[in-house]
Amino acid sequence: VAWPQPANSLYPALADTLSGSLTLFGDDGYDAQRRVWNGMIDVLPAAVVRAANTEDVAAVLAFAQATGLPLAVRGGGHNVAGNGTVDGGIVLDLGDLRGVEVDPAAGTATVGGGATLSDVDSATVPLGLAVPLGVVSGTGVAGLTLGGGVGWMTRSHGLSVDNLLGADVVLADGTTVHASAEENPELFWGLRGGGGNFGVVTSLTFRAWPLPESVYSGNLIYLGDRFENALHAFSAWSADVPDQLTTIVSFLVPPAEWEQGDDPIMAVGFAWAGEDQAEAEAVIDRLRALAAPDAELVQQTPWLDWQSAVDGVFPHGSRAYWKNTSFNSLDPALIDVLARRAREQSWRGTGFDLHHMGGAFGRIPEDATSFPVRDARYWLNIYGYWNDQADDEHHTAFVRGLSADMEPHAGGGQYVNFMGAEDPIQAAPGVYSGDKLARLRALKQSVDPGNLFRRNHNIAPGTV
Ligand code: FAD
Repeated sequence: VAWPQPANSLYPALADTLSGSLTLFGDDGYDAQRRVWNGMIDVLPAAVVRAANTEDVAAVLAFAQATGLPLAVRGGGHNVAGNGTVDGGIVLDLGDLRGVEVDPAAGTATVGGGATLSDVDSATVPLGLAVPLGVVSGTGVAGLTLGGGVGWMTRSHGLSVDNLLGADVVLADGTTVHASAEENPELFWGLRGGGGNFGVVTSLTFRAWPLPESVYSGNLIYLGDRFENALHAFSAWSADVPDQLTTIVSFLVPPAEWEQGDDPIMAVGFAWAGEDQAEAEAVIDRLRALAAPDAELVQQTPWLDWQSAVDGVFPHGSRAYWKNTSFNSLDPALIDVLARRAREQSWRGTGFDLHHMGGAFGRIPEDATSFPVRDARYWLNIYGYWNDQADDEHHTAFVRGLSADMEPHAGGGQYVNFMGAEDPIQAAPGVYSGDKLARLRALKQSVDPGNLFRRNHNIAPGTV
């Protein structure tokens, strides 16, 4: 094990300054502290600090700069590329900063830098409010938001970043600044899609929207020989649905507990973030008329249940390798690729999701945030996950194969939060357009010229 001795003697001084905890390689509890969601990321950091406050954050940043140890910043630990930990370096874990304060009158929620989605939902939903977040409740709000934040409210209210009103950020030099439309607006722009490149976010304030405690939601399910037919129907139908409806089409061999058999299915999952259920029912009826489902489960579901409905599909410690792409139309050749690949999946685990974009997401001007490709109408996330190391090669090859098949059809960019470990760590034109990359690099140069925050989908400081 590469154990960074030079830094070792400095740890007691660091420990003295911290209000939070310091766990060193070899200490009791080290193994639990080093692990992240992706079980394939089996690396050994030298130390893990669980910060108790902003001062702890600044102390760790100073320590990393003084020792030269690589630094990883961890929110919820769900990053598939494993950016929430680092071999031989120091992990700054914000998992104890997970308080959520809701201001119902103002319609805002202020969230600690280590909060999970369920921390936020469980604070807002009882007050009749919801922040647009992702679909698995253990995911970290900070990591999810800094990359973008796609979920069940994307078409009704936009990405998580589109609802971010401000953030407190500890910069590489240890100073804390607030970023919002009024204060440090360029940093605020970069935080909304540029990932963890610019600093450590200790607090995020979001707009929270009125949402009924139960929402009209569910899944229409199609079996393998219907995939083409159902996708053609989905293509036509999704061209004209109200913004309140967000749809994610999943292709997977369903978990045994869903009792849908052992063959791959296509599940058209949807959530209606609106009041008028009759309108929603009419919209779903239009899809049923175009392609009658083989099975369905559609009902009013408490939002908290819906927000954790697929948690069991992605248990902590899953082995994972993900890729993604976006595109503007579901043309017949693309439908053939998706249907063929979906039928090839004969195992539980690897799957892929087709996110219907547009709506509120698409109305945000491209330049307003650093998140890429606002005109994408669909986003494909190929989420390889499985349990057994023996499957690594086969299942990663499947993810790569489908991704390669998509290349001739995919027009848009990539979403950093759906990228796997082997995707280029340097932000490439495939992620941000040339103009965006240049602007992000200039921002990085101004706030982190030494690239302290490089354990991420990295934006190198400088001018292009
Ligand atoms: P971590 O591994 O803790 O952090 C990842 C990176 O984010 C860090 O390297 C750092 O660069 C940055 N970061 C985290 N916290 C901070 C902070 N406080 N300050 C500064 N930088 C920070 N994405 C979606 O958009 N929608 C989804 O529905 C969705 N579902 C998912 C489901 C699962 C099971 C998984 C594994 C991932 C999902 N994702 C989804 C992707 C998710 O957004 C990314 O994996 C994201 O990086 C997770 O953030 P985290 O804080 O949990 O990760």
